[in-house]
Amino acid sequence: MTALAWHAEAECRSQDPELFEPRGESARYQAQIEQAKAICSRCPVTEVCLSWALQAEGDVGITDRQGIWGGTTPRERWAMGRTTERLTPGWRKQPGRRPYRTRRESA
Ligand code: SF4
Repeated sequence: MTALAWHAEAECRSQDPELFEPRGESARYQAQIEQAKAICSRCPVTEVCLSWALQAEGDVGITDRQGIWGGTTPRERWAMGRTTERLTPGWRKQPGRRPYRTRRESA
């Protein structure tokens, strides 16, 4: 399934993209983050979305991750990547990783 194919089923397609791009994860943005996560929770492609985001972001740091994808914040995905790396050494060196694209570029 290509990125475009699964995105056609995305619950967020009918939402304001800005909702999924909070400018931070501080208390100031928690209501926005929770609203986006609530939409993700009823999305039929949550798993593939999260998988795509993790692969697209690769091993970048927290500050280079953006947006809510698959019901997760940049910090949550960063933590997932670190856990995966500890459990599977070398996983980030696998070929075929896609460069990061923004939500608008992938739509
Ligand atoms: S899981 Fe992904 S595709 Fe689905 S609503 Fe959330 S951000 Fe959009």
